[in-house]
Amino acid sequence: MKPIIAGPCSAESEDQILKIAEFLATKTSVKTMRAGVWKPRTRPGGFEGYGEKALQWLQLAKKKYGLSIAVEVAIPEHVEHCLKYDVDTIWLGARTTGNPFSVQEIAEALTGSGLSVMVKNPLIPDLALWLGAIERIEKVGISNVKAIHRGFGINQNSQFRYPPMWEIPIEIKRRRPDIKVYCDPSHIAGKSELVSLIAQKAVDMEMDGLMIEVHPSPKTALTDHFQQLDFSEFENLICQLVEKDATGQHNEIQQMRALIDDLDEELISILSKRMKIVGEMGEYKRANQMTILQMERWKTALKHRLECGRKNNLDDDFMLALWRAIHAEALRIQGIK
Ligand code: PEP
Ligand code: MN
Repeated sequence: MKPIIAGPCSAESEDQILKIAEFLATKTSVKTMRAGVWKPRTRPGGFEGYGEKALQWLQLAKKKYGLSIAVEVAIPEHVEHCLKYDVDTIWLGARTTGNPFSVQEIAEALTGSGLSVMVKNPLIPDLALWLGAIERIEKVGISNVKAIHRGFGINQNSQFRYPPMWEIPIEIKRRRPDIKVYCDPSHIAGKSELVSLIAQKAVDMEMDGLMIEVHPSPKTALTDHFQQLDFSEFENLICQLVEKDATGQHNEIQQMRALIDDLDEELISILSKRMKIVGEMGEYKRANQMTILQMERWKTALKHRLECGRKNNLDDDFMLALWRAIHAEALRIQGIK
């Protein structure tokens, strides 16, 4: 079973924190409880968290139920408070990760602290910004920094609040196999009924753990009430999560992979032939004073490729991205010299 960090979006009262801690400690295998103590709000005037008072409730929950405690920090002063009240793990929220000045200040406050640190992805899908934030924390001597994929502020038509872009956390795992990447299905989903779908997807994508928002009565929650799970929804989610085989050693899969490998080699050889002709055309255009980009030709070619893709059951967005990449490479080749 993957490790799960669970707890309310925000710490709202001592009673709420102790209820959740008791539930997690006695009814689930969760070892770390999360709670927002300082809440980054989009607009002023909303509930901004109980701060230091809430840290006292969390410290009490830790003593009573032996759970380790995780809290979001956004400024160096938050780190000092967390150290004072025995917090075990701090995480940087999406809005903080996006700002290298804030990350640097927090990193400096963390120096020599021994706190465990998790870094959520920034709101914009910028892999370098996310990795850069992790590196800033590592540079002050914190080891085992973890990442959390919480979805991105893109594509407003999606059914999700912050749509996932799995290729980004997967790229982090490829470049930094030493970093554990968690997933926060609650903020991705934005609705309680979609949380288990994303949690299962995260397990299928080989994410290393989950962070899930749980509240005794989500309807009355002061923040994120649409996406928090009540206790029975959370128990159901855990029960229904299926850990699948990550080794890929089945014969059928091996055979299909061999087919894919052959096709990919064919694709690469076709691309190489195509780009060779592109280069020759570049020389012809140069010799005959023709522009590199011929807009009308690009428009009709793209239209045709999209139609052809549709006939072959290929997704429009995928075809568009693929042909933009091919065209950009062709322009690059013809622009050389
Ligand atoms: C949260 O975890 O409650 C939170 C505010 O997260 P994020 O930074 O992902 O929006
Ligand atoms: Mn939240």
